Amino acid sequence: MPPSERVAIYGGTFDPIHRGHVEALDAVFDRMEWSRVVLMPASTQPFKLGARTSSPFDRHAMAVLATHDDPRFEVSKLELERSGVSYTVDTLESLRASRPDSALDWVVGDDNLALLPQWKSLDRILELANFVVLAREGLRVLPPELEARASTPEGRGLAGSIVFAENPRIEVSATDIRRRVATGEHFEDFVDRRVAEYISRNRLYVTEDES
Ligand code: ATP
Repeated sequence: MPPSERVAIYGGTFDPIHRGHVEALDAVFDRMEWSRVVLMPASTQPFKLGARTSSPFDRHAMAVLATHDDPRFEVSKLELERSGVSYTVDTLESLRASRPDSALDWVVGDDNLALLPQWKSLDRILELANFVVLAREGLRVLPPELEARASTPEGRGLAGSIVFAENPRIEVSATDIRRRVATGEHFEDFVDRRVAEYISRNRLYVTEDES
């Protein structure tokens, strides 16, 4: 049975959400045949344990500000409300239970590729969702144990495939934005105008050790 819809889920710290996140998704939205994108701010990312982040409230608010005028995007509180370490497998179990007929595409930047084999319950994740890999650093090589999962966008089904999205690369990182704010450099071009205002108004990232 063909999927009833294709939903992209984009997990991240989003501290802050930036142009690299939103514009990469926008560029491939139609080709990926998504009906919508769910931004999924993490409570604590498994590979960033111990890293200090802005509050869940601020990270959620900035994701909403950057996307609220685009009906293709929504921002989920699922991981923030679950709190603790945000394992993708737990999130996908919830989403799959409420959407049994939807194709679920978990979106990651290509800088995540090498770590994918270490994700908790990766086999189960691939029973629940596909991975869509955004070009970020230009890495195109899957870890050997995942090579057999490679697919074209058209070839993927409800779950189980890994697809390279072929978006234009946008060289922005949240780390660089936080550093720019802390050192008083120009950062406004890298984020949505409303996010820039939010950062300034709430004095986020004013000292580098908060990043
Ligand atoms: P940090 O610099 O704090 O590590 P980040 O900029 O990588 O943050 P995250 O919120 O950690 O942002 O990233 C969420 C997801 O978005 C990850 O899968 C990451 O690879 C991807 N991503 C981030 N920036 C880009 C970009 N410029 N182009 C494509 N994907 C990106």
